Amino acid sequence: MRGLAKTERTDGAMELIDIDRPTPGSDEALIEVEYAGLCGSDAGIYKFKSAFERMNLPTVIGHEYAGTIVEVGDNVTDFESGDRVVERPIRGCGSCYQCKIGEENVCQNAVITGVDHHGAYTGYIAVPTRALQSVPDELPSKHAAMVEPTSIGARAVIENSRTSAGDRVLVAGPGPIGQLTAQVARRQGGDVVVAGVGQDAEYRLPLAEELGFETLNVEADDMEAAREEHTDGVGYDVVFDTTGHPSGLTMAVDEVRKGGQIVLVGQTGETTMEYSPLVRAEIDLQCSYASMYEDFERSLRMIEDGSVDAETFLDDRYSLLEADDAFHAFLAGETCKPVFDVSELRD
Ligand SMILES: [Zn+2]
Ligand SMILES: [Zn+2]
Repeated sequence: MRGLAKTERTDGAMELIDIDRPTPGSDEALIEVEYAGLCGSDAGIYKFKSAFERMNLPTVIGHEYAGTIVEVGDNVTDFESGDRVVERPIRGCGSCYQCKIGEENVCQNAVITGVDHHGAYTGYIAVPTRALQSVPDELPSKHAAMVEPTSIGARAVIENSRTSAGDRVLVAGPGPIGQLTAQVARRQGGDVVVAGVGQDAEYRLPLAEELGFETLNVEADDMEAAREEHTDGVGYDVVFDTTGHPSGLTMAVDEVRKGGQIVLVGQTGETTMEYSPLVRAEIDLQCSYASMYEDFERSLRMIEDGSVDAETFLDDRYSLLEADDAFHAFLAGETCKPVFDVSELRD
């Protein structure tokens, strides 16, 4: 079967390769992949950023997907053929200290689907059933493919932020995680503004507006005037930094109110800043990483009930047969969340 793989340790080098259809192990299910999304980390693999140097190549990428079980291993009792599922792609080892105390998302030995082993941009994938969750009947697989990135936002907002009804919230970065975080924060009761840069003006900020958010372009708009307007000059109660850019944190410090909270979700690299103003303002600096079972369950329900609008959010104009187009568009900010019809690879 064909799979889209990273094939060389250079920028680009993403090609369709032939791999064997896997046989499920005794605790695994074989899943026919239906739809799979393109994530910022997939774009990081495309560019071959340093975080991915550990990859053995070629590796089929893709970790945000939904599909249908077509076969189960001998010991599997919790799922059966015909079940539609999503996978939690960051797998804890089950035996380190963090896994033992229920912090699987920060496991010391985690392996990631589509990075450490073949991912979902291919016809079939074999997965331990402990990493699977059922998709409700009413939820289309194309929308269920949005559950994994939604769960990142759900964890950031529900588990790791103080966002409450009536709070003024700024989401910095209108990429996929930002737009999903914004929707969850609104569901949580926040009054949410989404901020981006010049490159976002073409597609991502208009998408945020279509999703019902007020937006700011930090390169074109007067941020101080906007803060005055949206927060009476007080500053935002909670600022989520999903930019993946070093300026995200310094901007968040400018925008958050004294006594407020900054939640770092994007992985921003390195910045230099004076931090005594944070101490004197008693800013709560909180990180949020990956997601867990409960975050997935909540995300399945928020997509099903429409509080996360998957249909508006996803972009189905791209094909895995011409994947470079999707990666180039993603890196240029001309799309936000490409979703591929993976059945094309089974034709
Ligand atoms: Zn992802
Ligand atoms: Zn572990």
